[in-house]
Amino acid sequence: KKLDQGLEKTKESFLSKITRTVVGKSKVDDEVLDELEEVLITSDVGVKTTIKIIERIEERVGREKYVNTSELQGILRSEIAALLEENNTSDIDYEIPTHPENNPHVIMVVGVNGVGKTTTIGKLAYQFKDMGKKVVLGAADTFRAAAVDQLIIWSERVGVKIVEQGMQADPASVAFETLQVAKAQGADVVIIDTAGRLHNKVNLMNELTKIKRVMEKVVPGAPHEILLVLDGSTGQNAYEQAKQFSLATEINALAITKLDGTAKGGVVIGISDQMKIPVKYIGVGEQMMDLQPFNKKAFVDSLFG
Ligand code: GDP
Repeated sequence: KKLDQGLEKTKESFLSKITRTVVGKSKVDDEVLDELEEVLITSDVGVKTTIKIIERIEERVGREKYVNTSELQGILRSEIAALLEENNTSDIDYEIPTHPENNPHVIMVVGVNGVGKTTTIGKLAYQFKDMGKKVVLGAADTFRAAAVDQLIIWSERVGVKIVEQGMQADPASVAFETLQVAKAQGADVVIIDTAGRLHNKVNLMNELTKIKRVMEKVVPGAPHEILLVLDGSTGQNAYEQAKQFSLATEINALAITKLDGTAKGGVVIGISDQMKIPVKYIGVGEQMMDLQPFNKKAFVDSLFG
């Protein structure tokens, strides 16, 4: 399975570290738990979430008195599954909600350069089109060199309409036109690419606010979804970006990319726990098909094999 392949490095590293913590031990004692804590932290689960998981395991070990080390993996697995469950990381498919007056569903995509934002938009467009939906893309990242060109390439590859006004155009103007075109054409879903200049939070906030205000004028309630794209292979950096962006605007969904080729997949667990924003999609490769709706059970199954 694609997900298993995508999470292979994380799984290998994770499971081998866990195995090492219990070598030569029959019972789960403080030393094993200390080592397990270390494993979770070095697997990019994040300090706060790690402490939470360890405390829960400690409680369970205390309650059940003698827990054999052979049970540790199963216990960890169930605690991680429970944590994902608590964090309303809902299992969704690529379903698109409908809106009054047949207005399109509008997704605004944010994220810093290089995280895989354009690729994720292309993959999403592909999935939606494959479901028979009419998709319109809006190239409102008019700041990063080649961002517009890249999105045009994706629109051609997937075969969906794109609205663009070239580089340096006003992002709000692009967003406005995109929604007008989408409405006129009876589109089901609009995906708007935006610039993510994190180094200037006030600018970023102002720009996103302006784009949102303009969208709202064409489609009431838009954007219905603000999707933040994070690069999973950057581990703790992805947390920082999630924090910064949620200060600048209301993020309500996450896409975590590049989980293939990294052992830092634990970042998904920590980010969903710390941010309380549902992880909706994960990226496990560069191809069109390599975006998956996040499924808690499938994720835990792939992680523990
Ligand atoms: P942007 O600057 O955020 O728009 O980033 P791009 O979409 O241009 O992606 C940057 C690089 O990351 C490209 O080479 C993509 O092919 C690659 N990429 C994006 N998502 C994934 C993923 O899930 N897995 C892998 N391996 N590469 C990815």
